[in-house]
Amino acid sequence: MTDITAGDIVRCIDDTPSRPASRIMPDLNMLYVVAGVRPVGGGHSVRLRELAPSCHRGGACGCGRCGWDARRFRRVYRPDPDLIASLLRPICEPCDAG
Ligand SMILES: [Zn+2]
Repeated sequence: MTDITAGDIVRCIDDTPSRPASRIMPDLNMLYVVAGVRPVGGGHSVRLRELAPSCHRGGACGCGRCGWDARRFRRVYRPDPDLIASLLRPICEPCDAG
């Protein structure tokens, strides 16, 4: 089980690659924003907005299905949805500079 969901800010608590193919790893103690979480084989696979994981096809993930084990991350903050909405609200004022 994991309490991590998309949009959460998480800290990496384990940056040790579990497989030789896992070349791209998050940095220990760095903060990341979770792009998505999906159940995989009894665990959970996490994708981050800041970093694409290694792909089973090689290189950085382009297939969208790869990720890191959720146990590598600890949730530190879940932003208020109202705050997110306010940050994403487009600014429509015309620019009157000059
Ligand atoms: Zn992939």
